[in-house]
Amino acid sequence: MQNIHQRACRKIGKYLKIYSDIFNSRLLRETTVQRRKFTSSSPKMAPRNSPRNLRVLLDMDGVLADFEGQFLKNFREKYPQDPFVPLEDRSGFYVTKQYYALGQDIGTKAFGIYEEKGFFLSLQPIEGAIEAAREMADMEGVDVYICTSPIKKYTHCVVEKYQWLDKHLGKEWMERMILTRDKTVINGDLLIDDKPNITGGMSPPQWQHVLFTSWHNRDVTLQGGQVRLDGWLPHSGWRDILERKRQEINK
Ligand SMILES: [Mg+2]
Repeated sequence: MQNIHQRACRKIGKYLKIYSDIFNSRLLRETTVQRRKFTSSSPKMAPRNSPRNLRVLLDMDGVLADFEGQFLKNFREKYPQDPFVPLEDRSGFYVTKQYYALGQDIGTKAFGIYEEKGFFLSLQPIEGAIEAAREMADMEGVDVYICTSPIKKYTHCVVEKYQWLDKHLGKEWMERMILTRDKTVINGDLLIDDKPNITGGMSPPQWQHVLFTSWHNRDVTLQGGQVRLDGWLPHSGWRDILERKRQEINK
């Protein structure tokens, strides 16, 4: 009788173990699937206290693309008999304002130069700009965006700005493009731009203005936290400006 009882207990124990093994293996499988699902669909969480990326906004005209040089070349080719403003005599942000001072008709002709089809696409890259933009985009802890204001007569300008970026930096840079008439509302840490006074709906803007030297702003006095950047060549110190700001935002 005792033997029968012992055998029955052993059998029950065996069945319980089989059931427990099946249950545990299913649980393990489900947990693994759940974990996979979670890791594949969840955003990457930065470790606590890890430094955040520096956001750099790059202007196009006068910073990446040589607006002033192309404008003068086209104007002189189209109106060889008319007076013009040599680059070394440029002052003031708006080139047309200086041409209007030479005569109403000269100003109107000047406007027409950069409203023409093909103007914005034909701009030559500023020396070292493409290499600097690429290097910046590859830097650890730096996010780069293109932040540019199209002219009001946008027909050719808007599409050609995209084409220019595609031509000189590649399709993947389309993701970085910000077109706006008001740069003050754009969230960034540094705005590298040749326009001395950038105003708009947000005052003060979140970014620090890095004034990129151009013919028209060489004599402008820096104000309100601006710093100056004299071109993209290695000695210009653009890397130092970025590094200083990166340290500042992660203090
Ligand atoms: Mg500009």
